[in-house]
Amino acid sequence: MKITEHINASKGKTLFSFEILPPLKGQNIKSIFDSIDPLMEFNPPFIDVTYHREEYVYIEKENGLLEKRIVRKRPGTVGICAAIQSRFKVDAVPHILCGGFSKEDTENFLIDLDFLGIQNVMALRGDAVKSETYFKPEPNGNYFANDLVQQISGMNKGIFQEEILENSHHTDFCIGVAGYPEKHMEAPSLEQDIKRLKDKVAAGAEYVVTQMFFDNEQYFKFVKRCRENGITVPIIPGLKPIATKNQLNLIPHRFYVDLPDKLIGEVVKCKDNQAVRQVGIEWCIAQSKELIDAGVPVLHYYSMGKSSNIHSVASAVF
Ligand SMILES: Cc1cc2nc3c(=O)[nH]c(=O)nc-3n(C[C@H](O)[C@H](O)[C@H](O)COP(=O)(O)OP(=O)(O)OC[C@H]3O[C@@H](n4cnc5c(N)ncnc54)[C@H](O)[C@@H]3O)c2cc1C
Repeated sequence: MKITEHINASKGKTLFSFEILPPLKGQNIKSIFDSIDPLMEFNPPFIDVTYHREEYVYIEKENGLLEKRIVRKRPGTVGICAAIQSRFKVDAVPHILCGGFSKEDTENFLIDLDFLGIQNVMALRGDAVKSETYFKPEPNGNYFANDLVQQISGMNKGIFQEEILENSHHTDFCIGVAGYPEKHMEAPSLEQDIKRLKDKVAAGAEYVVTQMFFDNEQYFKFVKRCRENGITVPIIPGLKPIATKNQLNLIPHRFYVDLPDKLIGEVVKCKDNQAVRQVGIEWCIAQSKELIDAGVPVLHYYSMGKSSNIHSVASAVF
């Protein structure tokens, strides 16, 4: 089923969902199943699987020169999605990026997803590769997520890269896109960023999942501004329980979001990460309960490969 159909079928009851990362190359898919298994009791109608583009690494050769190599540390998004759908009988939502893909690569990727019976995709631009300051698309690749949404919407109308295809099969993907309550780091203002979000919806996106936030007011204000700007699709809040002291620095640095002073104060007081984990769970439970009371369609949790704290939150909330 499509995400929008799940939301309509829930008749206003908030649904539970979460995002997982493919394991590092060389690891077994069992680690993924082990992290999903305990969360199945909360009946997630869909599970997102992130996509990780290539990275450049430099290997020192015997002659002392550096050799640049391209590696993908977390491959397997499509395989994991197929395995999730077959094993758990829930919809898997693969993330798909502009970065690293030409439009032909994108088309082939989407054809595979369609043949696997995957009905939802999360369309994202992706970040710049670590060695570059700004995002660069591939030759004949999509530049912004909006362009990718247009390509997917085109395939939903039977438009492929080779225009000579006649009577072509129409895919029927439900397309999700990212939204940033605290603004995307590159956007000159939140107002501009919301206008770009509106373009993605106009191009065919049917729902939005937000970047993580730790202060619900950020989400409520964002949704209000989106609605004022004419964005009417569901806006699904993304939540992550803090689990370590390091994350006080890492999360703002990596995701460009603010942490409330009260949360920082409680984490700083903790003697060890076990105590931080508990603070993170309690904070996330309080956020979740308030968001449910506000009638959000889905609570979407970022598991980042660890599900035990999500389980603790969901046990208290669902
Ligand atoms: C829910 C969620 C899931 C994610 N999953 C992944 C994942 O699986 N893998 C991964 O690598 N990354 C993932 N990311 C991170 C994402 O790829 C980065 O945040 C990326 O920098 C932006 O992606 P986007 O799709 O929001 O880009 P876009 O919507 O293209 O926006 C990028 C920037 O460009 C601006 N912009 C958009 N259109 C235009 C235009 N026409 N002209 C000028 N400026 C424009 C926007 O305001 C914004 O500042 C995820 C993020 C979220 C919130």
